[in-house]
Amino acid sequence: MNVKRRDVIAGLSASLVLPSYSWAGAEAAVSSLTLGEMQLQTLSDGHLTLPRSMLFAGLEPEAVDQILQAQGIAAGPMQPPINVTLMRHQGRVVLFDTGSGPAFQATAGRLSAALDAVGVAPDEVSHVVFTHCHPDHLWGVLDDFDDPLFPNADYLMGQVEWDYWFDPDTAAISGDRASMAVGARRRMEMLEDRIALFRDGEEILPGVAAHATFGHTPGHMSFELRTANESVMVGGDAIGNHHVSFAEPGWPIGTDQDAEAAAKTRIRLLDMLSHGHMRLIGYHLPQGGIGRVERQGDSFRFVSEG
Ligand SMILES: [Zn+2]
Repeated sequence: MNVKRRDVIAGLSASLVLPSYSWAGAEAAVSSLTLGEMQLQTLSDGHLTLPRSMLFAGLEPEAVDQILQAQGIAAGPMQPPINVTLMRHQGRVVLFDTGSGPAFQATAGRLSAALDAVGVAPDEVSHVVFTHCHPDHLWGVLDDFDDPLFPNADYLMGQVEWDYWFDPDTAAISGDRASMAVGARRRMEMLEDRIALFRDGEEILPGVAAHATFGHTPGHMSFELRTANESVMVGGDAIGNHHVSFAEPGWPIGTDQDAEAAAKTRIRLLDMLSHGHMRLIGYHLPQGGIGRVERQGDSFRFVSEG
């Protein structure tokens, strides 16, 4: 992730001059989807505040503005929503990622309130599945007191992602990303005895298949939730926004650690989802993040179903 510490700090201070984010229980269950026996809901963890200069580093600002304006996005810092997927299936209560927790950005870390609003207590969560180890996906695994928020959960993560972030050398060589690597490792140490690691193609839970979608991070994983004749892809940050990454999927995005690999993964995934008419749940896509992908020549369009 090419997030520089000063950019994150700039993003934080920028958030202070924005109207304060109001949280209401009614916003908690953003969208829902029933897939056979699977009950899916996306819960809002709030939103991030990211400077455009970081997200679109290296891109022509005018070209970016044109795409953003076409989507009705006003000038100023980007405010991507954060959608955590909750799956209830065969007695399991499964979360895909855990939001940011209290220690990342002031506009994020709302997952506990969102769970409360849909009547799920943290100790009822049976499984937590991670797409990757960035702060807005992993840091919410600890509560305000630095204790695990989900005391009864089994944890699951891709082996490649675990190996990368758990390696002490990752922080040492990360430069501007060192604080994220240190933050990830600290949380992973608390999960070490309770985590199951998996690889590409494995069925990690009944009806949940893991797909390698490397690039955003070295071991980023997506999850295909499948019932008898329908499926949906929980895509994490493999497709990280509904504007530039759909209109120009080959363009680099500043939050992707390996921008070239991430673009290849994104195009492959967009192709597959549009061709197979498979739904997508995007962690930072609008209106709860559930929708379909439509191809338009070399571009794509996100059609929200939220
Ligand atoms: Zn993210």
